[in-house]
Amino acid sequence: MQQKPSEPALITPTAEIAVATHGGRAKCLQRLVRLDVPVPRTVALSFREVKGIAQGEMPDMAKLLEPFGETPLVCVRPSSEDPDWGGPSAILNIGLNDRSFVELRDSIGAEAATRLYLRFVQAYSINVARLDPDMFDDIDLAGQEGLSAALRAYEEETDEPFPQDPAVQLAAVLRSMARAWEGTTARLLRQAKGAPADAGLGLVVQEMALGLGQGECGSGVIQLVSSATGKPAITGRYRSQSQGREALSSEAGSVFLARDPRGPSLEDQAPEAFAQLIEYTRMMRVRLREEMQTEFTVENGKVHVLDGVRIRRSSRAAVQIAVALAQEGIIPKEEALLRVEPRALNEMLHRQVDPDAPRDVVGRGIAASPGAACGRIVFSAEAAQAAAARDEPCVLVRRETTPEDIRGMHAAAAVLTERGGITSHAAVIGRGLGLPCVVGASDMKFSVSKQRLTAPDGRVFKAGDIITVDGTSGQILAGDPPLLEAIQDEAFQSLMTWADEVRDIGIRANADTPADAQTARNFNAQGIGLCRTEHMFFDVDRLTVMREMIFADGEADRRAALDRLLPMQRGDFIELFRIMQGQPVCIRLFDPPLHEFLPSDSAGIRELAEALDLPRSDVERRVEALSEYNPMLGMRGVRLGVTVPEIYEMQARAIFEATVAASREGAPVVPEIMIPLVSARREVELVKTRIDAIAAAVRNERGSDFTYRLGVMVETPRAALRAGEIAPFTAFLSFGTNDLTQMTYGLSRDDAGRFMSDYVKKGVFPEDPFHMLDIDGVGELLQIGATRGRAARKDLVLSVCGEHGGNPESIAFCRRAGFDYVSCSPFRVPVARLAAAQLAVRDRLDPEN
Ligand code: PEP
Ligand code: MG
Repeated sequence: MQQKPSEPALITPTAEIAVATHGGRAKCLQRLVRLDVPVPRTVALSFREVKGIAQGEMPDMAKLLEPFGETPLVCVRPSSEDPDWGGPSAILNIGLNDRSFVELRDSIGAEAATRLYLRFVQAYSINVARLDPDMFDDIDLAGQEGLSAALRAYEEETDEPFPQDPAVQLAAVLRSMARAWEGTTARLLRQAKGAPADAGLGLVVQEMALGLGQGECGSGVIQLVSSATGKPAITGRYRSQSQGREALSSEAGSVFLARDPRGPSLEDQAPEAFAQLIEYTRMMRVRLREEMQTEFTVENGKVHVLDGVRIRRSSRAAVQIAVALAQEGIIPKEEALLRVEPRALNEMLHRQVDPDAPRDVVGRGIAASPGAACGRIVFSAEAAQAAAARDEPCVLVRRETTPEDIRGMHAAAAVLTERGGITSHAAVIGRGLGLPCVVGASDMKFSVSKQRLTAPDGRVFKAGDIITVDGTSGQILAGDPPLLEAIQDEAFQSLMTWADEVRDIGIRANADTPADAQTARNFNAQGIGLCRTEHMFFDVDRLTVMREMIFADGEADRRAALDRLLPMQRGDFIELFRIMQGQPVCIRLFDPPLHEFLPSDSAGIRELAEALDLPRSDVERRVEALSEYNPMLGMRGVRLGVTVPEIYEMQARAIFEATVAASREGAPVVPEIMIPLVSARREVELVKTRIDAIAAAVRNERGSDFTYRLGVMVETPRAALRAGEIAPFTAFLSFGTNDLTQMTYGLSRDDAGRFMSDYVKKGVFPEDPFHMLDIDGVGELLQIGATRGRAARKDLVLSVCGEHGGNPESIAFCRRAGFDYVSCSPFRVPVARLAAAQLAVRDRLDPEN
């Protein structure tokens, strides 16, 4: 059946108007009309009609103008489905011509009428006739002469008199707005904001409420809460004798809304209008179930509401507003959960560059750890420590970081590296510390030895210069723009509590140190899902003992070094168990890519030679002997555990002794021990036998019983494929999606940064797969591993502990695949809790989904 052509619809309470056909503005205006708010008469044109207009199919103009009387005076505004997608600018005062100008002059005075006509002529010339805005530069636009000069200029430029027929004017405005929406730039801009390629534009034609004239006339906007905090605060501006958003365009002539010691206010000037505006805006909040900004005009003391828009809001305000609406019973808690974008919590939990501050962007990289910090550039860990000793914030700039940089990272306010990707050393450590970090900034030139950093535009930054690292956007900025502080207020806590009430997948944290564990607890993680024990040795004192152990020639030397490491590890674990108070703690056995533990420069080699009391040349030879062509695929993880079993034995002993000690003090501890980088069943068998033996020995020695759970990290494609034969030996499988992604793609996680942005730009990968789980490939391996593992062992616990654990889209995949929990860096835990809650709520609302 052929669709009946729609017609422009007068907005009445019952007109057929929907967001999907007429856009958000038209629908909102209808809601206001239904609430009896005094909205000037408005006609809405649908997406289909506007598309037709762009193609030259004009509606019946006489009919369109009919509702606006003999002498129509109207404005046209865009109405896209989502206001964030933008649209052409509004055009006001359409209908003004020489005749209506005379009438207007009689009613509102010559000055006001002249200003309005002039304004229309200018807007029409520039936005509709597309004339050069410079054409008005040399004209004195004051008074009646100014108006005549502007009309003459139009005629000279176009060879036609300024159109006098309101229908002709309106048709031209509609055509120009409809075509502007179809333009390539406008399309690209809105697509960047998430609009689909075929997003439609609606238009609303509204009777003008003038805002100029006799008595109290003017216009402004009002909202009842602050856009920055979301807390109650009557904000906005009003300007007498003005139209549209003029009150906001400059401070001059604008007044406050509510009475204010800083200056005059609308409440003083027109108390009744002010009271009405408060009433309407409150009613809109309750009935439209949203915090709204009211755009209004006052005409001789009478209020007209031109529009209501969802107020602009910071992340903090978004949380505050959603929680307040739910607490007042205006929306259900579930809806409040859905109204906050999980990633927005990142902005709350870290300092941010003030969104209103100008940004002098000098470079870009991968946004590896969110938050922003400013500081003086330093090029070495030592310089960072020296700066910290002087209480001077600094940004540590390195090609890439290694364990030797850890102390420098602790001392720095932010880290910037040339190389690396989302799972490289700097990124992982940065996220753990909550330290802003940008990695893979390969468009900048890093001359670390010359202590120079060169921006793509040629600007050179030296040690001591101030820059800002924005780890949320991946940008490097010159100077120190104002920052907004991190905040966790009551509203945030309430939202998190509600999230936990509905969430149905567990969220743990990856935590290696007591500080990480404390952060994890503060963010209410349900335990530690990954403790990377090799990170416990990044501290300089320990690093040396660790190197002694790695360098040991024979078993006896190695045992001696391990005996020194044992009490350190035991102490670490006792502390973690104590902080986590009986919550599960999953400890991963040592997984060093060995190169991370070898000294990389001559100073490091000298120090190690001193510590080992060996000639330098011996150390150099040994470093060379231990060097691997491809350390990430070399003697890592369980391969080291199988070939040098004493290391895992020491760690197992430390874990069990700590279990006994911590269980005596507090809640009983059931440690989880995880074997990394497994690719074959036999590896698990070998390690399990030894760990069981150590457990039995510790039980005997301490006269204390305990249990533990052994698990396997699935990080190689083979482990996923062979999960069926591995599962009978383990209580859980935890997917290390960082390595699994690396190995599935055959793509180095440390080098991917170099070309990832090109790959994403060219659409080779839809997203950086280290950042967002590749559902098609890596996801299939997860699915296979989960299915085969559970088929072999029904009670097998499944989880993800790679960086993807904190990514909302990846959490959705894990939840669908029946995983028990995800584990991510501590600072991402709130994001993960909210994302998981939203998935559960959406499922309840639409179980078919
Ligand atoms: C992983 O590979 O996903 C993982 C969690 O381990 P790591 O990042 O320490 O290699
Ligand atoms: Mg790994």
